[in-house]
Amino acid sequence: MKKILLVIFSAVLFTVSFGSNKIYVGTNAEFPPFEYLEKGETVGFDMDLVNEIGKIIGKEIVIKDMGFDGLIPALQTKKIDLIIAGMTATEDRKKAVNFSEPYYSANQVIVLNKTNKDIKDFQDLKDKKIGVMLGFTGDFVVTDMGYPSEKFNAAFAGIMALQSNKIDAVVLDSETANNYIKKNNNLKLAEGKGEAENYAIAIRKTDEDLLNEVNSAIKTLHENGKFDELLMKHFK
Ligand code: GLN
Repeated sequence: MKKILLVIFSAVLFTVSFGSNKIYVGTNAEFPPFEYLEKGETVGFDMDLVNEIGKIIGKEIVIKDMGFDGLIPALQTKKIDLIIAGMTATEDRKKAVNFSEPYYSANQVIVLNKTNKDIKDFQDLKDKKIGVMLGFTGDFVVTDMGYPSEKFNAAFAGIMALQSNKIDAVVLDSETANNYIKKNNNLKLAEGKGEAENYAIAIRKTDEDLLNEVNSAIKTLHENGKFDELLMKHFK
């Protein structure tokens, strides 16, 4: 009897101490080089960064891959504890979540087929068929300019539609755009660029402790050179 109780007690202790040690991280693994799937694994700059943060704050990182649009709702309903997804810390999103210190600066760019001669900047997108990813900042930028657009669920789908001439242009984050251009020599970037946007980690408004821990971990990674090492690894 004592033995059984001991086993039960240890099992409970194990669950309490280790169960709570996990941190569920939401991402959308369709945003190379920040997060993408490779042999079934979620890899990329953000994944390395969040794993380094996990080591510093002593938590096991568990990645949950989902649609970009579902990330903030999943955070609010506690299905995940933080979001790292090349997510821009916009004023609108700040109403729903807290953001860590920014860790990367990017901007929107216009991806075109190399044969395109008439699109140089955002104003040239007027009356053109524009592709955006649903709920991405590119979607908001194009909508704010008053242009209609075709919405895709992932950058890759938009790029495919562009290459098959179903659309004239894709408005997308700079690094991801560059990633596709490097791999497809029939694509190019327009000259015009959007305003700078800062990527940051999103955390529930009520999780102030986690926010502080994540911020101090980011600071440590800048100080110890690990952050630069990751930049070199993913953006060379
Ligand atoms: N930076 C863009 C945004 O926050 C796109 C992010 C992404 O697709 N992962 O909307």
